[in-house]
Amino acid sequence: MKETGNISIHTENIFPIIKKFLYSDHEIFLRELVSNAVDASQKIKRLSSIGEFNGELGELKVKVSFDKDKKTITISDNGIGMTAEEIKKYINQIAFSGATEFVEKYKDQGDDKGIIGHFGLGFYSAFMVAKEVEIISKSYQEGSEAASWKCDGSTEYTIGSAKKKTRGTDIILHIAEDSEEFLEEFKLKSILEKYGKFLPIEIEFGDKVINNPNPIWTKSPSDLTDEDYLKFYEELYPFQEKPLFWIHLNVDYPFNLTGILYFPKVKNEMQLQREKISLYSRQVFITDEVKDIVPEFLMLLHGVIDSPDIPLNVSRSFLQADSNVKKINSYITKKVADKLAELFKSDRPAFEEKFANIGLFIKYGMISDEKFLEKAKDFCLVQDTNNKYFTLDEYSEEVQAAQTDKDGNKVYLYTTDVEQQDAFIQSAQNKGYSVIKLDTLIDSHFINTMESKLEKTQWKRVDADAVDKLIDTGITLEAILSDAQKESVKKVFEETLNDKQKVVAVEAMSPDELPAIVTQNEFMRRMSDMSKTGGGGMGMFGAMPNTYNITINANHPLISKLADLKDESEQKALAKQISDLALLSQNLLTGADLTAFIKRTVGGF
Ligand code: ADP
Ligand code: MG
Repeated sequence: MKETGNISIHTENIFPIIKKFLYSDHEIFLRELVSNAVDASQKIKRLSSIGEFNGELGELKVKVSFDKDKKTITISDNGIGMTAEEIKKYINQIAFSGATEFVEKYKDQGDDKGIIGHFGLGFYSAFMVAKEVEIISKSYQEGSEAASWKCDGSTEYTIGSAKKKTRGTDIILHIAEDSEEFLEEFKLKSILEKYGKFLPIEIEFGDKVINNPNPIWTKSPSDLTDEDYLKFYEELYPFQEKPLFWIHLNVDYPFNLTGILYFPKVKNEMQLQREKISLYSRQVFITDEVKDIVPEFLMLLHGVIDSPDIPLNVSRSFLQADSNVKKINSYITKKVADKLAELFKSDRPAFEEKFANIGLFIKYGMISDEKFLEKAKDFCLVQDTNNKYFTLDEYSEEVQAAQTDKDGNKVYLYTTDVEQQDAFIQSAQNKGYSVIKLDTLIDSHFINTMESKLEKTQWKRVDADAVDKLIDTGITLEAILSDAQKESVKKVFEETLNDKQKVVAVEAMSPDELPAIVTQNEFMRRMSDMSKTGGGGMGMFGAMPNTYNITINANHPLISKLADLKDESEQKALAKQISDLALLSQNLLTGADLTAFIKRTVGGF
């Protein structure tokens, strides 16, 4: 039998177009051909299981090999095979998907989940790298004759009989000059591992099987142990620290999606994201660009998502508008929130232990996703300077009595640096206030969000003001100094300070406090922080030098002494020493100022 015919498309020659424009990534040809071979194997398995094929199934396997001298790459399977008629039908009509037909035909007999099909131009992507493609195939049907098909990339093909004795298909690519890079073992192996690592049929390259045909995401969570999840994580990310916990995704309505998301150990948001979530479609790797599908705040998670319902060969803007993609996105958000809520409820100590790591995800989610915030505000924790954790509700209770100001606002005090702000923390604690630690980069955004979400709360860094003024309870201490004395003390200080320092007030504070303290106005500091972390339009604040407000403690014995001194230069020397001491207590005294301070202090002995 020998016959010549025309591939039925209307353009004179579609192959140059395929070659240039179909996929920017030529390596995709291997994904397509191996997927077809896997499909052919899955089909014969199906036919056998429903009794339509009664012959020997054998060990189903896909083999990929290459011959550097002959410049060929061969993909072989012992799947369903094709008769000459089928080749004409399935191969010669471009964009006619036999996968779709097969699924349609057998859809009432069990599930169709095994068939990949339908990526696009599928088989024809071979012409991205081959100047000639041969098919040699023998159908599973009893008594069928083996067929051979050959096409050189024009619209003309030849079809005839072949000598093949065993069931299945060989696809032989005669690699074009400009694609000889694919005739390298390392190259082929890495492409196979990239796309085929979890294909459901064994893929043999050289004499090694390159894939794990039964990845755990395809199994039921009830059949899996923690050990299985950890082992799979290691398989995905060989050199990573153990994950904290994981979520097994499993839905089939209104879209089909399975997968496992791992929460990795990330301590700070600067940590580079090298390991990503991979997107699969029926166990074929598609991409690790999962933006749009995975909510942005979960992009730092690890793991896999497998969904045949995500459109694959479409543009980004289409993906964003796709209703399945939107549903998948909110499903993942909900699953993650539910999992966290469950962990919190079932084992709070363990949850607290992990909070240093997962707090980042939770806070990021609360800032960026209204729905997530609704759920997460029940399990988001804050930690005080004694390392005790509170939920937001618990914390509100905790500070109710001592930290409500005269207008009924709860004032939450926080520190961004326990060491540097120690003097302020101690003063606050002595007054019976609680201080929480909000010391990661995301916290400044978190504070802004929470202030607008939690009614009648105000968040203030513990050094935003003198301790007596942090929470305005309407009660003021008596000052020992007269108003006139205060005025003159203020003047002495003003004459000694430099242009970055400013005396705000001489205030009645507790005599136990320092004689002077340096504070940073909450609003100005936040603006300057935001400009530092890249908040747009904050240039003005970013360009401003940091200025410090100095508040003088009118009730401190040293200040009384200063007020009583007769000699003006002695007064100034003491004032300078007191303000430098205040700066020093917060690590704000540096360089020549610090050296001078030390010299003066030592000289005093
Ligand atoms: P799709 O996989 O989306 O159906 P392809 O262009 O990749 O489209 O393949 C077209 C059809 O050719 C397949 O549906 C299948 O019927 C047939 N085919 C391709 N490769 C093989 C193979 N190795 N064994 C059997 N049939 C195959
Ligand atoms: Mg295909």
